[in-house]
Amino acid sequence: MLTKLFINGKWEDAASGKTFPTINPATTEVIAQIAEGGAEDIDRAVKAARAARGGPWGKMNASERGRIIWKMGERLLERAEEIARLETMDNGKTITESSKIDVPYSADLYFYYGGAATKLEGHTIPVNGPYFNYTLREPLGVVGLIVPWNFPLLLASRKVAAALAAGNTVILKPAAQTPLTALVLAEIGMEAGLPAGVLNVVPGHGSTAGAALVKHSDVDGIALTGGTSTGQQLMRDAAATVKKLHLELGGKSPNIVFADADLEAAAKMALMGIFYNKGEVCTAGSRLLVEKPIYDGFMEKVVERAKKMQPADPMDPKSRLGPLVSETQLANVKKYIEIGEKEGARLLVGGRQPEPTPGKGYFFQPTIFDNVQPTSTIAQEEIFGPVLATLTFQDGDELLKIANGTMYGLAAAIWTKDIKKAHRLAKALKAGTVWINTYNNYDAAMPYGGYKMSGFGRESGMEAFEFYTQSKSVWVDLS
Ligand code: NAD
Repeated sequence: MLTKLFINGKWEDAASGKTFPTINPATTEVIAQIAEGGAEDIDRAVKAARAARGGPWGKMNASERGRIIWKMGERLLERAEEIARLETMDNGKTITESSKIDVPYSADLYFYYGGAATKLEGHTIPVNGPYFNYTLREPLGVVGLIVPWNFPLLLASRKVAAALAAGNTVILKPAAQTPLTALVLAEIGMEAGLPAGVLNVVPGHGSTAGAALVKHSDVDGIALTGGTSTGQQLMRDAAATVKKLHLELGGKSPNIVFADADLEAAAKMALMGIFYNKGEVCTAGSRLLVEKPIYDGFMEKVVERAKKMQPADPMDPKSRLGPLVSETQLANVKKYIEIGEKEGARLLVGGRQPEPTPGKGYFFQPTIFDNVQPTSTIAQEEIFGPVLATLTFQDGDELLKIANGTMYGLAAAIWTKDIKKAHRLAKALKAGTVWINTYNNYDAAMPYGGYKMSGFGRESGMEAFEFYTQSKSVWVDLS
């Protein structure tokens, strides 16, 4: 198992000699001790990345770069089984999710951006006077990519593939809870032909390695996926060096069910919306908004299905719900259950750890609250666990007020057979992604990001290059 820092094409110990444990949340056992990167290691990685920008990578044709990135996707698929197992072991997501979603979707990102490397074009601009003006789309330079623990490989790949396609060099800092697949990515990059220093991977903690990367004066930009308070801290830390930022932050997404919807499909996907990846999903449909006349009948369907979803060993292909990622996350979810009950919400199902707990892990029952007030804590704050807050609405102004009534704006879903109503509402919702009669669809080609305090900038698709490139305007005198 890979456990060291990957800097300038070599596996290295941390300068401090420190390590930290990564834990299997299904068993609470230590999987491995990982080299703990700190400021000195980040500095070495930045120097390697800067040197690599001026080396063969900086001079390579875009098509050649594209072929290496494509090859990374192929290597990921060749090693899919091993990588899916590592991801499940480190994060607790089910093996079905790791192998059917995380690994193939990550590979898709390398295929998409492998092709995109040759599609980055500038413009010719019709300026006044006897001049010719054109723009060059150039890489940002050295970029720091900081990712969370909920989709370790996938969220790293979203950033790494786009950053490399644009010709940048990278320092990737995975979350301390889940460093294993990021280290495999470093190996895959090397196998695919990335020159030394192009992709460096430095596991470590946010307050040390992460902060050092953000404050480093020779890093040109930071892309973060993380919590909103982390994003705010990054904005403060990046100010001194006026660093370009791309922030993908939290969410509290409304999943809206109208009386005229296909209720079977809506009930099934309401569960998928909140319990997929144990609710540790930034776009989780954590607020279920149901139109009043159908509320009781619809909730019966939802609760009946939730009762059948018991947490189980994530390595078992039949398991539909694994453990939460860590003890801290479990404590966080329990805290919100208490808050919900104190605020007068009613527990319809779940609310505690299953008994007996499978293994010794951080398992939690699928939980549904109703009688939730739109302004209450559990309707406003991101829980990041398998906890659904259900609310009712009357169609019209009340719905929009509730749906848009949090500080977040990451995603939303609408269930109705009325196509006009669906599109009107899709336009009015303040969210970066809106699903109509579906939930949680993603594609490498689709721009993805948040409104309001869910962040700014878009990743995936060609829009990701707004962050990973900068444009240069060139004037030529023709007189
Ligand atoms: P987190 O913000 O605590 O950590 C995310 C990453 O940032 C980790 O690598 C962490 O080490 C690093 N970090 C923390 N403090 C830092 C600092 N001061 N400087 C630099 N780096 C720092 O988030 P988490 O608990 O790992 O993940 C959960 C959060 O991520 C949730 O709020 C969730 O909504 C969000 N998330 C958002 C998206 C999205 O696409 N918008 C996707 C997944 C997760």
